[in-house]
Amino acid sequence: METAALLRSVILATLVVAGQLSYPSPPRARGAETMTFEQAVRRIPSRTLPEFWVGDVTGLAARFEKLTRCDVTTIARSPGGRPIHLIAYGARENLKSSANYNSAVGARERSAYLDKAARQRPVILFVGPVHGHEVEALTGLVNLAHILQTGKDLRGRNQPKIHELASRCRLLIIPEGNPDGIARLKPRALHGMEDADVRFWGQGTWGDDTFCGWPGAKRQHPMAGDNVGFLGCYFNEKGINPMHDEFFDPMGPEAPAILKVAREEAPDLTVSLHSHESRPAILRPAYVPLEIQKDVRSLAERCYALLAERGLPHGGLFEAVPEAGKFPAPFNLTSAMYHISGANSFTFECPHGINGRCQVSLEEILDIQLTLYEAMMRHEISKKGP
Ligand SMILES: [Zn+2]
Repeated sequence: METAALLRSVILATLVVAGQLSYPSPPRARGAETMTFEQAVRRIPSRTLPEFWVGDVTGLAARFEKLTRCDVTTIARSPGGRPIHLIAYGARENLKSSANYNSAVGARERSAYLDKAARQRPVILFVGPVHGHEVEALTGLVNLAHILQTGKDLRGRNQPKIHELASRCRLLIIPEGNPDGIARLKPRALHGMEDADVRFWGQGTWGDDTFCGWPGAKRQHPMAGDNVGFLGCYFNEKGINPMHDEFFDPMGPEAPAILKVAREEAPDLTVSLHSHESRPAILRPAYVPLEIQKDVRSLAERCYALLAERGLPHGGLFEAVPEAGKFPAPFNLTSAMYHISGANSFTFECPHGINGRCQVSLEEILDIQLTLYEAMMRHEISKKGP
């Protein structure tokens, strides 16, 4: 027995040295940066966020009850007991389906899943923050819901273009992709704060108060156990990051609920809404056909042109490429959305408005969100012809 145990530890040490296994202990953050919860809370600027800003899940259910022109349902509850809502706007066109998407692809007849071209109106699915600190999209989507109801955003500004475009689509809005993570964000907006604050609230800390950071925070999943300090807003209360759930055997309720909406509704276009420190960017979707990547790239052109026209910043265009390289892209929630519904699926990154980075105002953040939604609707409506 002792020889066997010794042999096992020798094999284990060899594998670790060879890089084939990872140590259970996490890597330290670059530099020796640490932050405690108390320090992080003291760094929150004293300010009053404007009425149009939505940085919390508290009060959302009551807000959504007032929507009379949409169907509002609860599609799941988070491990923390918080609802995940679906706001559906525009009539559903019922078409028959005789196969799930990947079987229909195998049959060389995608219409066996659903004949999307036969629908009068495009179907667009917006997935709000699955990373809880990225509340820019929560603000955007709650404002969109308000526009659908009243024609105005929460600033009181008329949005006739968005209102008119929406009337020609079926819109599916999941405002809070990870309500546990959103509820954990004390600042309610990272605007005007620093990179270190994004790291603390976003990816969290290890037990010794060092930052988990990006992409180090993905090295342990679920993010649970004695070595976890502050659980970042990336994660639900069980430490699951919905962007990287185990899609074939789910660990959390958020990703499966989102994917179920996609499977049942067969959207033409879907976005997972995120935020980062840089300029607004539409990312290359991974593990989807090059044709889908090219369509998303042409949407990015349309969106960036609209942003530029409005004096808003934007990032560069991605190139459509097949998966390859030493560090290929992960198959994430955005990839899964395509494979379950055939939707042209992508990830959007909005600026937080971090000091010294892409310094946009809170109003500009809302305008960036609304401009993206407008570009998405225009893109899909244009495919339906005049
Ligand atoms: Zn994110």
